[in-house]
Amino acid sequence: SEKERPVTDATLVIIDPATPLPAGTAAPEDRLRVLDPQQPQINVTDLGVTRGDGIFETFGVVGGDVQAVQPHLQRLQRSARMLELPELDLDAIEQAVRLAARLHERDDVLVKLIITRGIEGLEQPTAWAYAFVGDDYSHRQHHGMKVVTLDRGYPRDIAKTSPWLLQGAKTLSYAVNKAALREAHRRGAEDVIFVSTDGYVLEGPTSTVIMKVGDVFVTPRTDQGILEGTTQAALFGIVASLGFGTDYRYVRRSELDQVDGLWSVSSGQQITPVINLDGTDLPYDRELTQTILKRLQSRTS
Ligand code: PLP
Repeated sequence: SEKERPVTDATLVIIDPATPLPAGTAAPEDRLRVLDPQQPQINVTDLGVTRGDGIFETFGVVGGDVQAVQPHLQRLQRSARMLELPELDLDAIEQAVRLAARLHERDDVLVKLIITRGIEGLEQPTAWAYAFVGDDYSHRQHHGMKVVTLDRGYPRDIAKTSPWLLQGAKTLSYAVNKAALREAHRRGAEDVIFVSTDGYVLEGPTSTVIMKVGDVFVTPRTDQGILEGTTQAALFGIVASLGFGTDYRYVRRSELDQVDGLWSVSSGQQITPVINLDGTDLPYDRELTQTILKRLQSRTS
């Protein structure tokens, strides 16, 4: 049947009819359509296209297993609530993500799940999932990368003072995140750590920041308009099982010069050590990083 057809380049699953229906309205598998990713599928007046008005999640798939399914779905739901989209049918969305992963011919892929506010005037979200082969991060996972800090232009309490700016929701508006990465490349670095106007460490454009201070792994608190990272959560579980402490707190930019390790983590890259920040070399524990990398890659859910 059409659903069994492997698609080589990418796979595309549309959640149909335009999600979300109230939970339990239809069996999720009846609501999925597999379509040709090479053909145009999105309406030109879809608000996701015309205004970037929508949300997304990128799921890592390693050895055919979709990683951190529930944490991604919970974050998607939080984003949907922040944008005041209709309540999501998370079962249908999970099925779509798993089907997109299963239909791809490769076992190590990413699945992007997108929900927009829908076609202008219809007030019915559009949703789709597709699987694709992500960038190859193996070189930087082993050898590390240079990173620059960039000002995000907001104070760290932005989510509380100005919630309409949607900081902390995973919206489709990633043009700024990509522009920041191009700025990093111009400065001879591969990635960015955003810093608030009042001097606090936030996150990367597509990643969570982790540092090690003594025997404690630290990540910036998420009440600063940043995302709760699914990879960071998994990493905290792993390092706790290795006997390290973990802490969520406010971190000043100046502290980063004193750390015993600094990493960027995300579903796509898993874990990458930062070996140079704003031109200053940082300590890099290769063995510990490779141990964590292996454990992150062997996650299943
Ligand atoms: N922060 C931002 C802004 C991101 O875009 C991402 C992932 O794309 C992350 C953090 C890391 O999240 P996760 O580990 O769940 O992929």
